[in-house]
Amino acid sequence: MSAAPLIELRGLTKSYRSGEIVTPVLHGIDLDVARGDYVALMGASGSGKSTLMNLIGLLDRPDEGRLSLAGADAAKADVNEQARIRNREIGFVFQSFNLLKRMTVLDNVALPLVYAGQSRSAARERATEMLGKVGLGALGKRLPNQLSGGQQQRVAIARALANRAPLLLADEPTGNLDSQTTSEVLDVFEQLNRDDGLTIVLVTHEPDVAMRAKRLVRLKDGRIAFDGKPGTEVH
Ligand code: ADP
Ligand code: MG
Repeated sequence: MSAAPLIELRGLTKSYRSGEIVTPVLHGIDLDVARGDYVALMGASGSGKSTLMNLIGLLDRPDEGRLSLAGADAAKADVNEQARIRNREIGFVFQSFNLLKRMTVLDNVALPLVYAGQSRSAARERATEMLGKVGLGALGKRLPNQLSGGQQQRVAIARALANRAPLLLADEPTGNLDSQTTSEVLDVFEQLNRDDGLTIVLVTHEPDVAMRAKRLVRLKDGRIAFDGKPGTEVH
């Protein structure tokens, strides 16, 4: 196993342009995330958190700088190579669960594997295993709207990781959840990080959520203003 960081960002900049108007968002981000780390990304609304997550997730390209993921120079890769890296290395979870309403929980988790070319039975076997990991082994036959919000988010986590991606990117994953179900989801993150060595980068505006990560990175106006242990930041 290589000692290189799973995520290596050097001098990343990003601006959005619409017509004549240029909005600079990220001003030279340097960040390494080792395999097995669990990072909470915080910052005021508009500070660039989602922009940074989209760059790390290869959903958008930086204007300048280097972005390497699992040793691959991902910012410069062409679209197809980026899609391959994304499919192999990254699972995504968002604030909205984006589950397909008419499909069982099990089939929601199995679907990306079927798209990736696995047989339906192999995909369902792996999906069953993933549902077990997120504590929903008994609920595979239900429809998404027969689950609580926290359970639906755990299904989305199972789906995101079904292909064994080593990196989970989660943008406000508990933003729609009450504190009880938030804690269920955080239990799952903690267990996947501890037992499977899953690397997690999670955007949150909730200090309680960030406290459960191993590391806090705070963005301020497109720059890293703090990087350290949660709870040790001096304001
Ligand atoms: P955060 O997730 O921290 O709230 P974002 O990364 O979404 O912040 O946005 C950072 C800044 O970039 C904001 O000022 C936002 O309005 C702007 N922005 C984000 N996405 C776009 C876009 N697609 N086009 C133009 N401006 C954008
Ligand atoms: Mg955002």
